[in-house]
Amino acid sequence: MDDRTYAADAEPGTDATVAGWVHEVRDLGGIAFLILRDKSGKIQVKFEKDEMDDDLVDTGLSVHRESVVRVEGTVEEEERAPTGVEVVPDSLEVVAEADPELPLDPSGKVDADLSTRLDNRTLDLRKEEVKAIFQIRAEMLRAVREQFRDLGCTEINTPKIVATGTEGGTELFPVTYFGREAFMNQSPQLFKQLMVGSGLERVFEVGPIFRAEEHNTPRHLNEATSIDFESAFYDHTDAMDACEAVVRAAYEGVAENCAEELETLGLEDFSVPEADFPRLSYQEAIERVNATGKLDEQLVWGDDLSTEAEHALGEDVGRHYFVTDWPSEVKPFYIKDHDDDPELSTGFDLMHPSLELVSGGQREHRYEHLIEGFEQQGLEPEAFEYYTKMFRYGMPPHAGWGLGAERLVMTMLGLENIREAVIFPRDRQRLSP
Ligand code: ATP
Ligand code: MG
Repeated sequence: MDDRTYAADAEPGTDATVAGWVHEVRDLGGIAFLILRDKSGKIQVKFEKDEMDDDLVDTGLSVHRESVVRVEGTVEEEERAPTGVEVVPDSLEVVAEADPELPLDPSGKVDADLSTRLDNRTLDLRKEEVKAIFQIRAEMLRAVREQFRDLGCTEINTPKIVATGTEGGTELFPVTYFGREAFMNQSPQLFKQLMVGSGLERVFEVGPIFRAEEHNTPRHLNEATSIDFESAFYDHTDAMDACEAVVRAAYEGVAENCAEELETLGLEDFSVPEADFPRLSYQEAIERVNATGKLDEQLVWGDDLSTEAEHALGEDVGRHYFVTDWPSEVKPFYIKDHDDDPELSTGFDLMHPSLELVSGGQREHRYEHLIEGFEQQGLEPEAFEYYTKMFRYGMPPHAGWGLGAERLVMTMLGLENIREAVIFPRDRQRLSP
């Protein structure tokens, strides 16, 4: 069906059919131009009024912007045309007419607020700079998958409707499952751990996570995409190595394959973060934040890093960095403590200077310790029997992490709002489209 030539591929001296959206019609009197836009770019269609059939000229010049048209004609060289070529039409068919009033201007001449843009994402993604974000996102995911393959991982898909939560009860979305209460999964954490004890050993998943967080922030979504990794016979330092490799591979993929999109976004100076992300212990991190003098109140042992603290530290370090050796009490039950100091966990976070990208750690794989951890966190181990049971049948030491895909895109491209990195975001206000 698609026998057309893309705008970018139209060769002078050939007959071609181009098809796409009417970006603009410019009538200069004796001569007029219709700028046609498709996935590949734009091409000019020229109407010389005296030399062409009146019907053809009328149809071409009266069509509303953003209508879909199909043009057959001859491609000619034209220095003054934006792409150096133009189509002299033999025929023009209006394939799908657009209303004259558009809720959003895809040419970008009229600004729209984010909410209007999200309500009309189809039109919004006709803009080069918006389309570029999602092409980069797709490339990022491709590069990440390739890196996981190089690391010897198998891609898995785990359930998103579950019987219990893992990260504490308040952030769960309940659903009705054939009359029973169930929840949308907050994280594939337990499932991916169960797979390192299987014959697969080293796995990854790219999938949705659901968090019923009440707050509306520029870096939280209620449905996000998590890039998860888990490996048998890994400790937390191995997991950090893998994490750095995956994040850098994502940047490398984009740098290598998205030059045009980066230019569209004004990011010509895009660069891959240097290897060997610094690893600061939690203790060093809080001392360093306190030394910046930027916090109203000094951090003390056991405090989580507030947004202000993350910013102060990020500015001070000035690149991606890990925070390691968190106090056990602030990390979830499945994170393993250091053998020589139960107050210290093997949990780590990977930070971009502006926000948290990843949480990970070595996992508690010893059955008795795991059950104790559940109890300490106020969770009923019985509800998790499907999980804990497998720790009695040969569960190797293992480690892993979860990386927020939207946060990666957001920080990579310097987007101000995480919603810019999702086609159809879910937040407090937004349930459709
Ligand atoms: P934060 O403290 O920033 O809210 P978190 O510590 O609650 O994040 P984790 O449970 O550690 O998040 O999840 C692992 C990663 O998943 C985070 O580092 C982040 O990149 C991503 N992530 C988690 N929750 C969200 C969310 N609501 N929106 C977007 N990304 C998220
Ligand atoms: Mg975290």
